[in-house]
Amino acid sequence: MQGFNKYYPPDFDPQKHGSLNSYRGKHALGDRARKLDQGILIVRFELPFNIWCGTCNNHIGMGVRYNAEKKKIGNYYSTPIYSFRCKCHLCDGWFEIQTDPKNTRYVVVSGARQKDEEWDPAENGGFAVHETDPNQGPVDPLAALEKSTEAQNYMNNVQIPRIEALQNLSDHYSSDPYSHSLRVRKRFREQKKVDKAREEADEQIKSTYGLPETLALTAEDEESKAKAKEEWERARQSLEERESAKRRRIGAEVPIIPRTSSSRLSARAAPAKASGSSGGDAVSALRAKILGNTARQSSSLAGPGRAKPPDINLKGLRGLVKKA
Ligand SMILES: [Zn+2]
Repeated sequence: MQGFNKYYPPDFDPQKHGSLNSYRGKHALGDRARKLDQGILIVRFELPFNIWCGTCNNHIGMGVRYNAEKKKIGNYYSTPIYSFRCKCHLCDGWFEIQTDPKNTRYVVVSGARQKDEEWDPAENGGFAVHETDPNQGPVDPLAALEKSTEAQNYMNNVQIPRIEALQNLSDHYSSDPYSHSLRVRKRFREQKKVDKAREEADEQIKSTYGLPETLALTAEDEESKAKAKEEWERARQSLEERESAKRRRIGAEVPIIPRTSSSRLSARAAPAKASGSSGGDAVSALRAKILGNTARQSSSLAGPGRAKPPDINLKGLRGLVKKA
């Protein structure tokens, strides 16, 4: 048993023993190193695939672990090849498995049979990554030539034209940056002028009609103009209807007013009448004056000055239209 703790016995001499392990005559790896003089180290080894034991013919599943004797048996280039020798747990037989660095896998060397469950990409519609089949014959030179000819054709017919087109495009866009910049800036200046003029016109409309600063006016085009005109026509029509209704009402009330007012006035003016004054004449004169005023007002409201919409109204309305 190697020393696990740091107890140093009284007769321990560092000059003589060097370490606790050597003092006890044990290897640092303990019992696993008992065959180290043969180049064998005992390691825990897990079966990488299913096998059948060659001695007892039992199936041993992938993942079963053994205390295997690991030994270096050679090299593939600079990569060591290890062999693992395990004793079957169902019988006394031994089997040996080696690493295969060339194919990055394990192979059963003796004492067992491997169950063949390797994933074969070529069998499943893919391509083998490693061309390591030792029985593969020499490459067919005609097939290789055909392959390279196809590649050449593809490059000539597809890749080179595409690259040339891209190159032309790139040249077209980046050969003369000065003129491009000039053109872009000119366009920008013109657009800026238009925008500024429009902004000023909008500001004027807003200040004229007392519209809020943040109100966005729509751009003036045929559609919005027509819409605004339509809206204006509708408003004018409804105004006219209201006015004519008012006029009709007043006209209908005319015969009522004298009766009620005269009866009221006559009742109130009875003493004056009785006194023999000309009160009835004064009342009728007042009524005539009021009616005359009303008629004048309504005629001026529906006058010829409002028959045609002023041009500025259109612009004022378009903001309202957009808001709605
Ligand atoms: Zn066995």
